[in-house]
Amino acid sequence: MLTLGCHLSASKGYLNMGKEAVSIGANTFQFFTRNPRGFKVKDLDEADCEAFNAYWAENGGSAIVAHAPYTLNACSADEHIRELASMIMSDDIARLEHIGSVYYNFHPGSHVKQGVEIGTDYIVSLLNSIITPQQRTIVLLETMAGKGSEIGHTFEELKAIIDRVEHSEKLGVCLDTCHIFDGGYDIVNDADGVLAEFDRVIGLDRLRAVHLNDSKNTLGSRKDRHELIGKGNIGLDALVAFISRPEIAKLPIVLETPNDLPGYKAEIAMLRERTGI
Ligand code: FE
Ligand code: FE
Ligand code: ZN
Repeated sequence: MLTLGCHLSASKGYLNMGKEAVSIGANTFQFFTRNPRGFKVKDLDEADCEAFNAYWAENGGSAIVAHAPYTLNACSADEHIRELASMIMSDDIARLEHIGSVYYNFHPGSHVKQGVEIGTDYIVSLLNSIITPQQRTIVLLETMAGKGSEIGHTFEELKAIIDRVEHSEKLGVCLDTCHIFDGGYDIVNDADGVLAEFDRVIGLDRLRAVHLNDSKNTLGSRKDRHELIGKGNIGLDALVAFISRPEIAKLPIVLETPNDLPGYKAEIAMLRERTGI
């Protein structure tokens, strides 16, 4: 069975997210660790974490994905903004250690005129300052669309970060189908070639999660606007074929399509039916 789910609101806590996921046929889900505006977070509720862990195991849930606020910028030119990113990510990881099986996904950042090299240096030093050999949580770098000065729209840029992180055994990659398509990787006509390229540059063993989105824009547009599955330029057939591949079908797959809960439920059911997995 595919490990398939969607992005959920975290406002009612872990146990409620788990119940919501189960109610829509999901066996994974994603949530923001805190409000992307203002970064506010509630006190850690350990009882809720424990109740979720038990409920999730009973209901056959798989690894879930915590998403860092997308407004963080680990490679800002402003030292205070980099420090804020470091503090928040480090605190998020400490909290996530209370969850049974969770990945921590983040956007590498935007270098804003400093250049990819300096931006990469900042991201590497942030990761080296927050990742500990003891942590269980695996940190995922998300593949980006390359909008503005986003770092991580090529596999090479992600590899350049991973290579310089000391405890890189705690690092993986989350592949976003809309982002890599907008970034110029043709998963419609050459998914074989794209995954071979991923394997050659980064290594498929680093691929730990997938964001499944169609795209409102065209191949190489570097835009990043998600579309409902089958309504965009990637299309239903290509997305179904992509997640049916053995390298992908075994991973947590999370929908981030512009949807409400019933819409997600329908997409999950449709994808389970179309893939037959
Ligand atoms: Fe993201
Ligand atoms: Fe994404
Ligand atoms: Zn996106």
